[in-house]
Order: sequence, then structure tokens, then C-alpha cells
Amino acid sequence: MPDWQKWRKIKYEAELDPGFADKIASIPGGEKLFKCIQCGTCSGMCPLSPDMDYTPRQIIAMIRAGFKKEVLSSHTCWLCASCYACTVECPKEIKITDIMYAAKRLAIQEKVYPKRFAIPVLAREFFNGVKRQGRSNESFLLTRLYLKTNPLQLFKQAFLGLQLFYRGRMSLKLESIEHKNELKALLNSLEKEPLMKSKTGTPVATGEGAR
Ligand code: SF4
Ligand code: SF4
Repeated sequence: MPDWQKWRKIKYEAELDPGFADKIASIPGGEKLFKCIQCGTCSGMCPLSPDMDYTPRQIIAMIRAGFKKEVLSSHTCWLCASCYACTVECPKEIKITDIMYAAKRLAIQEKVYPKRFAIPVLAREFFNGVKRQGRSNESFLLTRLYLKTNPLQLFKQAFLGLQLFYRGRMSLKLESIEHKNELKALLNSLEKEPLMKSKTGTPVATGEGAR
């Protein structure tokens, strides 16, 4: 979110989601989230924190405060490179990287990730491609990615794509595995699994109808 938008709107307590922190904390080891002392070590260690709209320390504070919409629609978790530097250095052993993953999955499930931002679209298209064919087809994956995020870029990259094709580095053939329907059934069942469980072990609804 651009800086000018951060102060544009006052957030009232009624707009917060008081159950958001518990939902994120339900991942294995996630309960340590509540031990954060806001020391900022994670933000200092994070190589991508200067490019994030909210730093890892801010994300932890916002999750605990119930800023669900802001966290799930931010660019931060999508920019996270999973380097684990924050997790290793956190004095409270908070699994910040895993929390970033949980936020990403929840954002995809609730369809609130930043629209036309390439990383979540790439993640989704990759998953859908593997589900359909059983393997990733780079040329089709990139075409769908550019069409959904930046169609102009498709024309800019066309020449590079053709060069890769002529050198045999990129195929225009849609490849698939045998028994792809079995893999599709497996991935479909995984998609239906609830993302997180409550502290009592009861699944927490996180799908499209859960809001
Ligand atoms: S390093 Fe750990 S304790 Fe410090 S702000 Fe980050 S998450 Fe909180
Ligand atoms: S794991 Fe992600 S949030 Fe943590 S330091 Fe690396 S890039 Fe930053």
C-alpha cells in the first residue's frame, strides 16, 4: 500500500477481526506469535523489508491486533523470500516465515491478495497448471501470468520466448503426465482441507464461504 494511503483512513475497533490472530496462531508453533516483544530484529534482518509495504515486525503487530484485511492484501508476505533470517534471529523463536506462508494461503483462499501483483497470480497459475496437466508448462504458465497481470509485457517478452523456443529451451507443446486425473483428485482434496485448526482441533473454516 502506498504511504499516502496508510493515513487516509481511520481504523475503528469494530472493523478489526478479533479472531484473526488465533487463526494464524493455529499453525504448528504459531502460538509463539503472542510472545512478540516488538524488538524489530526481524525487520532489521529481512533483506526485503525496505521493499515491503509493512515490515515483518509490523505484520506481527497487525496480526495480533486483528488487522486482517490490511495483512492479507499487503505485498509483504508475497515479497518474503523464505530466507528464514528473521525466524533464526527472533529472540522469542517466533516462526515468522511460516506466518508469512499462512497469510499467503489465507489470502489466496479468501481471494484478497493484491490484484494484478505477479507473485500470487504466478503461485495460483502454477498450481492450476500442475493440477490440470500434472506438470508445469513454462510457456503456457508465462502466457497466462502476463495476460492476467501485464498483457503489454507479453509482447515485450515475445522475442525472448521465440529465441528460447528456437534453442530448444522452451516448448510450445502442452506436456502432461500419465494418470493426471489421479493427481487432480488428490490436489482437489487438498484444496478442500481447512487451512488451519483451532486450538481444540476443530477445523477453522477459511474457504470462500468462511467470511
Ligand atoms: S524479532 Fe521476534 S520478537 Fe522481535 S519483533 Fe520480530 S517477531 Fe517480534
Ligand atoms: S523469511 Fe521472509 S520475512 Fe523473514 S527475513 Fe527472509 S524475506 Fe524477510
